[in-house]
Amino acid sequence: MQQPSPTSIDRTAKLPRARVAKREQCADDLFKLWLEPETRFPTFKPGQYCTIGVKGIERAYSIVSAPHEDWLELFVELVPEGELTPLLWKLAVDDTVSIRPRAKGVFVMSPKFQSHFMVSTVTGVVPFVGILRDYFHKGETGHKFYVIEGASYPGEFGYDDELAKMAAEHPDTVKFVVTVSRPTEEKSKDWIGETGRANVVVGKYLDQFNVDPATTLIYACGHPGMIEDVRVEAADKGFAFIEEKFWV
Ligand SMILES: Cc1cc2nc3c(=O)[nH]c(=O)nc-3n(C[C@H](O)[C@H](O)[C@H](O)COP(=O)(O)OP(=O)(O)OC[C@H]3O[C@@H](n4cnc5c(N)ncnc54)[C@H](O)[C@@H]3O)c2cc1C
Repeated sequence: MQQPSPTSIDRTAKLPRARVAKREQCADDLFKLWLEPETRFPTFKPGQYCTIGVKGIERAYSIVSAPHEDWLELFVELVPEGELTPLLWKLAVDDTVSIRPRAKGVFVMSPKFQSHFMVSTVTGVVPFVGILRDYFHKGETGHKFYVIEGASYPGEFGYDDELAKMAAEHPDTVKFVVTVSRPTEEKSKDWIGETGRANVVVGKYLDQFNVDPATTLIYACGHPGMIEDVRVEAADKGFAFIEEKFWV
């Protein structure tokens, strides 16, 4: 998706607005925002994104929350040199942002595949959380989900507890792997789980979980380098593949 560029005219002035209902800082450069649209936000498919703005600068954000939830939940990484995220970082409860009146995107669950192998780095986990929240909310069955979540440090996961709980409650449906790529650094000192970049451990878990290319769609979302590596591995092994790049 091409990012809209700011202009001297605030093209967002007439857009609906959403109130910051809640804000939570998760790490030095990661935060969650819960938005309450002031007018009804049309229902959307889990995995889609919304477009929000401050002072006329707009960007896309995948939606963490499932459609049945009251607020739109977002998980945002601060890009210090970026245009919008430093403004989002400063938002407080009851501040407002512009919001385009509907969600978009095709990075959604494809139910015709029996199994779904989802690879993410940091904020790239967002669409997968939304898809799984919705799946269990609707009481659906019959699919398998493998979620690989990678980050440099354990503090960057954001949704690891929630995904681990889903995996514990639905062991035949969800397999969850979290991996840290900088295990020797101070910020990872208590880490005892998997290590290595998400793209590097993908092959190991495709084998370990005996994932079948004939019935599986591999999804990749997050760091562009990870996405490229997973795309190549998926093609080499004959898997169908879909990606969502947050930046290039
Ligand atoms: C479909 C879609 C969904 C998205 N969902 C999310 C989401 O859920 N959470 C989220 O945090 N972002 C998400 N993004 C990225 C988001 O739209 C912005 O690009 C990002 O927040 C940076 O905005 P900015 O205005 O601060 O930086 P910009 O001024 O747009 O960018 C400054 C520079 O930083 C690079 N950049 C942008 N994001 C990152 C990053 N995370 N890490 C390193 N470099 C980066 C850009 O390529 C550019 O070179 C999504 C993007 C798309 C296209």
